[in-house]
Amino acid sequence: MSEIYLNAVDSLRIGIDFFLKERSYSSRKHTILTLFHSIELFLKERLHQENRLLIYRDIDAKITEDSSTVGIREILARLDNIGLGLPKDERGIIEKIQKRRNRIEHHRYDHKEADDIVIADSFKFILFFAEGVLKKDLASDIDLESLRAIRRAVFERNELDAIAHWRFDEWAKKQWPEWNPENEDIPEEFSGTLDCPICTESYLVIGYHDKPFCFHCNTTIDAADCPECGRTFLVDEGCGCGYGEQPQGTDADDLSND
Ligand SMILES: [Zn+2]
Ligand SMILES: [Zn+2]
Repeated sequence: MSEIYLNAVDSLRIGIDFFLKERSYSSRKHTILTLFHSIELFLKERLHQENRLLIYRDIDAKITEDSSTVGIREILARLDNIGLGLPKDERGIIEKIQKRRNRIEHHRYDHKEADDIVIADSFKFILFFAEGVLKKDLASDIDLESLRAIRRAVFERNELDAIAHWRFDEWAKKQWPEWNPENEDIPEEFSGTLDCPICTESYLVIGYHDKPFCFHCNTTIDAADCPECGRTFLVDEGCGCGYGEQPQGTDADDLSND
């Protein structure tokens, strides 16, 4: 078994321990850091399976123990280039946890409830990738109780999503009685849902209720659509791109690093 895979499993195990310990600032912060590390290594393991040289940054130089290896951005690009690119949804999961991890690494950790979604999705990705792509059996490396706990987190997250979906459909059916969900994803006249700045899920509807409403949070959200970058933001906080923010201190730039 490769050392990269063992390293990935070790980080996953630590991530699960933090996740199960408590729901505090510190436990969530370390869960995100270790899970991101573990995802990076699982992906690197796929490159390594293909050809062990693919994990090195510079393969024209002599490879030694200390040769530097690729980071997440290059790993994803190399997987793409050899025809092993990840599906869009999986990529989205990695982007979300990477953003949260970069925020912690380069700036600070602002504990958000939505992180539980990011964490559950990361578990989902790892279960899919380790078993479906790497063809490994996590049950032989992770104790059963921990595996059950992460499967439960994934299950609960999927349930919440199903409920949000149902809520949206019920509302849309009242709004557009002609709409047949079996033929069309969303009603033709509907401009579409937006990303909610609280839960980060795409269940926010602006312009139909007295205030913007998120079907995942199931509450009104004081959100607006940014005329500069097109993303949604909390009116109180201003947009990450700088729009509507107080002039001092923008931290949009710390997300651009790897
Ligand atoms: Zn929401
Ligand atoms: Zn913006």
